[in-house]
Amino acid sequence: MHTYSIEEQERVERIIRQCALCYVGLIDKNRRPYVLPMNFGYKDEIIYLHSGPEGKAAALMAEGPEVCLTFCTDSKLIWQHQEVACSYRMRAESVLVYGHVVPEEDFDEKVKALDIIMQQYSGKTFTYSDPAVKNVKIWKVALEEVSAKEFGVPSRNALKYKDRDRF
Ligand SMILES: Cc1cc2nc3c(=O)[nH]c(=O)nc-3n(C[C@H](O)[C@H](O)[C@H](O)COP(=O)(O)OP(=O)(O)OC[C@H]3O[C@@H](n4cnc5c(N)ncnc54)[C@H](O)[C@@H]3O)c2cc1C
Repeated sequence: MHTYSIEEQERVERIIRQCALCYVGLIDKNRRPYVLPMNFGYKDEIIYLHSGPEGKAAALMAEGPEVCLTFCTDSKLIWQHQEVACSYRMRAESVLVYGHVVPEEDFDEKVKALDIIMQQYSGKTFTYSDPAVKNVKIWKVALEEVSAKEFGVPSRNALKYKDRDRF
């Protein structure tokens, strides 16, 4: 089974949109890694995150640090030979993004960002109360450096006929 790099921007975007959450990798003040699952929205090569105003993540992101975001589609266990451990793989696609956190303070831009996040999950448009918008923190991360990979791609010639049904 093979791992392939994915170069096409369109495919990278499709993978990101398929994901339910991303993992936000930060470095804290003691140089310790701090990785959190977070919801997100995506539009025009920008990832939108949101959080409350308090807490470790918000304090770190307010500094505008470099972050590493990881997205991974649902994975599926596959194998070429059921009895051979090293023929087992996970089939999935993942995207890794490096960028810098930019806090968004403008009220109308925050509303747009919330719409983009809600679109990712519901496909619907919402209204938000003024205090809710003022209170929420919006963090934007532009896709400065991106890599994407596809894992567990079977070598079809090596598969027995019955195995092919799994893919
Ligand atoms: C599926 C999913 C989606 C989420 N989406 C969002 C989102 O969009 N926005 C958002 O703000 N938060 C989201 N969260 C929660 C997020 O992962 C953090 O828990 C939250 O943001 C608080 O982080 P903090 O740094 O402010 O924590 P603090 O309140 O400062 O946490 C104190 C300590 O708690 C521990 N801790 C914090 N978070 C976690 C965690 N997730 N798991 C285990 N230990 C933890 C750490 O040791 C940390 O030092 C999501 C969580 C899940 C599971």
